[in-house]
Amino acid sequence: MARPIISVIDTSALKNNLKIIRNIVPKSHIWSVIKANAYGHGIHKIWKSLSQTDGFALLEISDAIFLRKKNFKKPILLLEGFFHSDELKIIDKYRLTIVVHSEWQIETIAKTNFSSPLNIYLKINNGMNRLGFNIKHIYKIFERLRQIKNIGMITLMSHFYFAKNKKKFALYSKNIFRIKKKIGCQCSLSSSGSILWNPNIKCDWVRPGIILYGVSPTGQWKDIAYTNLLPVMTLKSKIISIQNIESGDSIGYGAKYISKIKKRIGIVACGYADGYPRHAPNGTPVIVDDVYTNTLGAISMDMMMVDLTFCPKAKIGSNVELWGKNIKIDDIANISGTIGYELLSKIMPRVQIRIK
Ligand SMILES: *Cc1c(COP(=O)(O)O)cnc(C)c1O
Repeated sequence: MARPIISVIDTSALKNNLKIIRNIVPKSHIWSVIKANAYGHGIHKIWKSLSQTDGFALLEISDAIFLRKKNFKKPILLLEGFFHSDELKIIDKYRLTIVVHSEWQIETIAKTNFSSPLNIYLKINNGMNRLGFNIKHIYKIFERLRQIKNIGMITLMSHFYFAKNKKKFALYSKNIFRIKKKIGCQCSLSSSGSILWNPNIKCDWVRPGIILYGVSPTGQWKDIAYTNLLPVMTLKSKIISIQNIESGDSIGYGAKYISKIKKRIGIVACGYADGYPRHAPNGTPVIVDDVYTNTLGAISMDMMMVDLTFCPKAKIGSNVELWGKNIKIDDIANISGTIGYELLSKIMPRVQIRIK
């Protein structure tokens, strides 16, 4: 048998989450964001479960080609557009929609021949100062774009960093709506956080990522506990060995845990080289055969140790849930000083994905 760590993907939860998003923003079209290997869920294995989406948004052009080769006919959006003029041939061939965030991209498009005009998303920098054009220059850029025969439909797009701040969101989106009205185009503003906390903002297209996977955009599970969004991934493994230690014995690297009493401990086939956070402290929750218990000592590369004091029936081969329906990835991320986004996207290729 193979090493027992697996990532079990609950496709019914994925479908459920897409439906919930539709109910929250019934008038918007949905770009399901599947960048970073569908947030670690395995793009090749899960994309079909999201086929009710209106389009897929992603970064790597190879993933877009994969979807087209699978005969996916709806729109595909490249969230950072193209990185080099070479890619425009492929973008044209596979009819991809691209984000345009920089002057050089516009001029490169102008110089290229396409089989038919390309739909673009014009990215506005909304104060994150990452990608996009200053809103002050948007009319001028729009004029330039209109002169380029290669460019088809133009959609205004922005990304916010303050989804929970309703006031700020309203202010920034008002500016965009003014431009949208004047130009007469569509717009796409909301990602997960703004879908949940500003559902009344009228976006023609929304771009949910993390909530599709049932994980909180704030890093706090309690913020989405009321939504009926369901965690999609369960990271599972098994106990592969058992140790009985004496009072005063230490556990793991650096002897980070020293037991005051005799203890039975389980060795679990899961470590930081699987994507489990190395910074998870002593006492991080795990479930062994339906019983809540916790880690002891430091997380190793390929293993971790767990307390079996209250799991008398646990034995070699017992099931361990690292995160999933019961132990929320948000909670593991929290106590490890990170967010669910990072843990999901750092699941390593050696963890097999199993579709449920
Ligand atoms: C990643 C990304 C999203 C999705 O963000 P979530 O917070 O996961 O919903 C939306 N838009 C852009 C531009 C992104 O890069």
